[in-house]
Amino acid sequence: MTKRLCKYRRVEISAQLGEITQLVAQPKYMCGSCTRVASHRSALCKPRLLETATVSAGNSVIANSAMTPLATTPRETDIKADANHTRHSKQDKRAVKAAKKALKKQSKAQKKLAKLVKKSQKLAKQQRKLELKYQHLAHKADKRVANIATQTQLH
Ligand SMILES: [Zn+2]
Repeated sequence: MTKRLCKYRRVEISAQLGEITQLVAQPKYMCGSCTRVASHRSALCKPRLLETATVSAGNSVIANSAMTPLATTPRETDIKADANHTRHSKQDKRAVKAAKKALKKQSKAQKKLAKLVKKSQKLAKQQRKLELKYQHLAHKADKRVANIATQTQLH
């Protein structure tokens, strides 16, 4: 039986390099305590079956993993695009917020202006009313003066 890889000392490793290389070249097991790999479970202190255990399966996995970057690349770019989009939409949001703020400010100013216009219109109306009243009174006074004049003339 092979000595456990986990138990090898540095000097022993260099001495048994050929055997160790054979053990680790096509690993089926991984040590659960020190992560060493070996083709025989007896070579490890806590052997665990590797997911890519058999050689053929390992090859297909490698082939698959070689294929997966192609499959994942567009997804990664999608994520990047999404990140860009969110960054853009963030900028858009900020711009919209600024525009809204400006619009609010503008509408507020317009409201204020409208209020002022309304106030001045009201004042003008009041002034016109007063003027009319004054004219009326003046006319009345003129009439009275004229009446008095005619009355004095009659006497
Ligand atoms: Zn071990």
